[in-house]
Amino acid sequence: MKPFEIFLSEPHQSGDEQDYLQRALLANSITTGGEIVTQFEFELARFFNHEVRVNATNSGTSAIHLGLLLLGVQKGDEVLCQSFTFSASVNPVLYLGATPVFIGSESETWNMCPLALENAIQERMAKGKKPKAIIVVDLYGMPFQVDAISAVAIKYEIPILEDSAEALGSRYKGRLCGTLGSVGILSFNGNKIITTSSGGAVLVATEKQKNKVQFWASQSKDEAPHYQHSEVGYNYGMSTIAAAIGLAQLQLLDQRIEARRANHFFYAQLFETFQCIRIQTEPRDDFYSNFWLTTILIDSELSEGKTANDLRHFMQKQGIETRPLWKPMHLQPVFNGYAYFGNKFEEELFQKGLCLPSSSNMSHQQKSKIRNAIQEFFRV
Ligand SMILES: *Cc1c(COP(=O)(O)O)cnc(C)c1O
Repeated sequence: MKPFEIFLSEPHQSGDEQDYLQRALLANSITTGGEIVTQFEFELARFFNHEVRVNATNSGTSAIHLGLLLLGVQKGDEVLCQSFTFSASVNPVLYLGATPVFIGSESETWNMCPLALENAIQERMAKGKKPKAIIVVDLYGMPFQVDAISAVAIKYEIPILEDSAEALGSRYKGRLCGTLGSVGILSFNGNKIITTSSGGAVLVATEKQKNKVQFWASQSKDEAPHYQHSEVGYNYGMSTIAAAIGLAQLQLLDQRIEARRANHFFYAQLFETFQCIRIQTEPRDDFYSNFWLTTILIDSELSEGKTANDLRHFMQKQGIETRPLWKPMHLQPVFNGYAYFGNKFEEELFQKGLCLPSSSNMSHQQKSKIRNAIQEFFRV
């Protein structure tokens, strides 16, 4: 296989990473926690206008695990999970011995369908089992249907964990993703909008919650001169090296969002004349996406039978990386046998969809190469 020349989503250095790393090394701060991590948390909280308290973690996945602990999810509980997502949104439910109940997506945002959510809650409650939490995702950067989902959550008094791993900087009615549920999480993995190599964050409302998350994330050490533990602990804190990279990355976050959005509008213009392609876009002014990845659906009835899979293979031969949309969790062997509520719309997304190269450092030449390849594939 030809190595990729153009990646789906690659790290984009600001140029200040070496300086920040140098400072950490000079201070011999090569550990977890401490001043550099506190500084990263502060700068991130500032991006959120201090509307939330921030705990930096060693991954988005561990952030979800901690968020579920905070919502009191325990062994035997049921958690309502968006099916159309990455497995990391759901795996922490299993770490806790809880049970996922999968919810299908709606066609505007591709995120959790409020009707399917309410059906699921009513059905589970009729069986005497009230779900403990809702994990809703801002997939590919697109905010979920916040008003409709929140109304259901409030009606049945079930808290929301907002998985904003892909949606740093996205907004719904002007409010930042990550602040739209009871708890929010972010990811700073290498392919996300900014990276700390590996990293994440838990966003909470109160100082008390922040302290509790911090306590669990650093081995649940009770106050005592010796190591004393009365709760299970985790080693989920962010490293100083990761935080140093993160501080450099955060400086240019606004530009990174602008660049991803510019990628989206480049593709939107390219596909304007393509009958067979529908680009996923903001359904209304209420939605502002960071367009972490630009995604399309190909209607093979209008493309002389050419499928998303054909396009992916064609692009691969040209050294251009594309990827199928997420395979729904209710179709994954690891989650076989768990309940699902929805109309299977996301199965159609998986069949017809493709993620396009969306890095914030994509050059004009790279965009031209992508445009030429797509035009050649569809022979326009
Ligand atoms: C990346 C991602 C995660 C997990 O984040 P990591 O930092 O890789 O652990 C969780 N949910 C979604 C939707 C993601 O895209």
